[in-house]
Amino acid sequence: MSVITEVKQRLDIVELVSEHVTLQKAGRNFKGLCPFHSEKHASFFVFPAQQSWHCFGACATGGDIFSFIMKKEGIDFGQALRLLAKRGGVALGSLEAPSKAEDQRKERLFQLNEAAAEYYHHLLSSARAAEAARSYLARRKITLETTKEFRLGFCPDAWETLKSYLLGKGYPEKELVEAGLLIEKEEGGSYDRFRNRLLFPICDIQGRVTGFGARVLDDSLPKYINSPQTPIFDKSTSLYGVDRAKSAIRNKNSAIIVEGYMDVLTAHQHDWRNVVGSMGTSLTEKQVEGIRRLTSNVTLALDADLAGEEATLRGKAILAYSNVEANVILLPPGKDPDEVIREDPPLWLKLVEQAMPIMGFAFQSVIGKVDINRAKDKALAVQRLLPSIHEIKDPVQQSHYVKKLAGELRIEESAIRVALRELTAGQKRLQRSRAPQRSQLVCQLVSSRLEEHCLALLLQYPELRPLARELSSEHFECTENREVFVHWQRSSEGSNLGSQLDSSLIEHLHYLVGKDFPPAIRESERTRHFDLADCILRLQERLSRKLETEKEAALEIEREKGGICSELSKLEEQGIDSGQQLQDIFVKRGRKPWMQ
Ligand SMILES: [Zn+2]
Repeated sequence: MSVITEVKQRLDIVELVSEHVTLQKAGRNFKGLCPFHSEKHASFFVFPAQQSWHCFGACATGGDIFSFIMKKEGIDFGQALRLLAKRGGVALGSLEAPSKAEDQRKERLFQLNEAAAEYYHHLLSSARAAEAARSYLARRKITLETTKEFRLGFCPDAWETLKSYLLGKGYPEKELVEAGLLIEKEEGGSYDRFRNRLLFPICDIQGRVTGFGARVLDDSLPKYINSPQTPIFDKSTSLYGVDRAKSAIRNKNSAIIVEGYMDVLTAHQHDWRNVVGSMGTSLTEKQVEGIRRLTSNVTLALDADLAGEEATLRGKAILAYSNVEANVILLPPGKDPDEVIREDPPLWLKLVEQAMPIMGFAFQSVIGKVDINRAKDKALAVQRLLPSIHEIKDPVQQSHYVKKLAGELRIEESAIRVALRELTAGQKRLQRSRAPQRSQLVCQLVSSRLEEHCLALLLQYPELRPLARELSSEHFECTENREVFVHWQRSSEGSNLGSQLDSSLIEHLHYLVGKDFPPAIRESERTRHFDLADCILRLQERLSRKLETEKEAALEIEREKGGICSELSKLEEQGIDSGQQLQDIFVKRGRKPWMQ
């Protein structure tokens, strides 16, 4: 038995999911509010018999324990396997080795950063040279408690302060460079990266120091510098203060995102504990992803002077994850959150309470700048706002904004719909040329011969690749097959698939690559072609049937309750849809549904 199968046998999906979602019994199954999108009526189902889950709401996707944890924790398959194996008490044997070495390397970098943070903090509190830094904090009204809580630090104006301290502690120079604390000189040797600056240790959600932000104490430039990218630090995924803010964000089910370190410090000091910093001017999608694991309600505090243009861009990044409710706080001109919170707490409270939806805000800032009596300006406004409207996945909301845009610009709604359809068509063409990565489905404990046959064909005969465009990861129910397929789909022809796969899957890959075919397939390209096409149809048929069954089970429960709520009609709509898909497949396979 493979470790993957073993993990699945040891763990129960209901137990696992219920740690993250409040589940209610619904017939033989369970349901609850989807953890991946925000909703008022439960459309997230767990099916114990199949050990699978499915969201019939906005996500319209499902999977097994692995895909649930991958999605919930934002981790890859290998990490999910290791996490769940540990939980199920399944020994991974040699599979543990490679990740262990990598983990150990990272662990050392965390230790190093920890030692550096401690030392810098010590210098800030006691060194004479840190006087300027201390008085800067005093001027900004940062208390000693906050300084301690966030472990602020100071580095003196010298080239080898941290270096000699950490070398003295026995850390190798090579690792100090790797952690980004030292800069290597071209002619050899190294020196401290941070000099004469106030330091902000940046932590991951678990509170481990991943890197540093550093501010000058005078007017010199650049005002801020950061640690470089290292194996444990990536600025685009980091959120300053997330370790201190995470429980408040979960409890309040909302997060406020500000730009600067000082904004975060002041907010926390004034008991606004759900505030995190984006550490720069534009919020990245990865940062949004990080927040989404804690809440789907995000409020951005924007600088009034820069907000207009940027908000639409940021709005797009946020809306790309359409299930985040994004609001905007518009600050008074020339003010940072730091100043508003400090100088006028009631005003800050009011701003937070009156935060407006980001789309409404984007509308206001774009339409406010154009002359709606001019055709050219109208076109410009549509061009600006359409991409954001396009990102909205909820059709009702999307329609709302189409109407709103048409109304405000006094043009026909149909004109906007045409433009929207063109945008969609253009993106679909793009998506088709890229490899779409969709989510996963149930894995049956019996490994599927159909899936393996199909995968082996694709792996052994590269000329068949174009046919596989009709397949998505959802067509593979078996976890191993699904992971191999996803990586094969992303890889380019001739690249080394083995090097991209998690080590737990290598054996399965070798099995597929070595799988033997009957002579008819080996000898004729035409036969292979037909054989694969048939395989694909059968996989599609199986998926449609499975979705039908799951929807039927979900509908059953709604009927029992006797409620014709909106969920029901939504489910029925989708049901009809997949029924139609099934019809299409029967037509393609040249038989009638009633003849099967
Ligand atoms: Zn969902």
